[in-house]
Amino acid sequence: MKDFANQILQAAAIAITGHIHPDGDCIGSCLALRRYILDNYSSKQVDVYLEPIGSEFLFLDGASGILSECTEKKYDLCFVLDCSSEDRFTPFADIVKCAKTVICIDHHISNQGLGDFCKVDAKASATCEVLCQIFSFDKISTACASCLYTGIVHDTGVFKHSNTTKATMMYAGSLLEKGVDNAKIIDETFYQKSYVQNLVLGQALLNSRLTANGQIMFSSLSAEELEQYEASSADTNGIIDQLRSTKGVETAVFVYPLKEGGYKVSMRSNNKVDVAVIAQKFQGGGHIRAAGCTLYHTLEEIYQKIIPKIEEQL
Ligand code: 5GP
Ligand code: MN
Repeated sequence: MKDFANQILQAAAIAITGHIHPDGDCIGSCLALRRYILDNYSSKQVDVYLEPIGSEFLFLDGASGILSECTEKKYDLCFVLDCSSEDRFTPFADIVKCAKTVICIDHHISNQGLGDFCKVDAKASATCEVLCQIFSFDKISTACASCLYTGIVHDTGVFKHSNTTKATMMYAGSLLEKGVDNAKIIDETFYQKSYVQNLVLGQALLNSRLTANGQIMFSSLSAEELEQYEASSADTNGIIDQLRSTKGVETAVFVYPLKEGGYKVSMRSNNKVDVAVIAQKFQGGGHIRAAGCTLYHTLEEIYQKIIPKIEEQL
């Protein structure tokens, strides 16, 4: 990535953005890159653009300065992180479009190439792991390392998903050496749930259905239910993992309403089903064992469309 350093050196104003409904890897990678540039390249102006982030991530360096509204500012360089396609950064499309140079760094198998330079490693557990490959390790500060570690923790489900490799663990180990508070990051950003989040999880479990001899677990929450618990879509994080880890389940599907309309469909599989292929059939994307899409149908229609595609593979 000689281009990476050259492009930063040539740019004065740099924007960084990631995908809609930012998760731990998206937030971690954007903030890690910001910190790395500020630490190692003098007099750069770096702005991070993301939709509002969960309060559990606010302790990360630079989190409170994230811009959540698009501006008309023009940038010399724009980084697009953890995004597999253009529809994933729509709120900030103008920032990306108007930048002189766009660099995409990602780990989604469905990424067909974005921007002027694109680095995609589908074997990397997280975009934060791809950044570990690109950054000079001796130039990573504790603050930057904490952001990188957060991203890896979230996209690997705390080092337990099948995307966790020897390289993932080696990078995570090196980040620990930088002074990362791993217990705080794992407990407070991954496992800790608010009371509302627990209520919503309980409702989702009550709403769930098992099919295909218990190999598929489907659940959904309605807009009315989210309203009843005064929950936002961010409060549904983690529900899909509870479905997936149910004994006998190979593939889990969780569906919730988006405030902008339509339903978000999240899919996870354990060993057999390629959920990225299914998501792509519905204009979504992701990874083999974790993928998603947005559908504009009723909950029952979504069930009827998605379940047969999983059964075909089973
Ligand atoms: P999640 O279910 O956690 O929202 O997403 C799982 C994975 O699939 C993530 O890596 C996410 O980036 C990807 N993904 C989720 N929804 C979409 C979508 O609508 N389009 C694309 N291209 N990828 C998605
Ligand atoms: Mn990711």
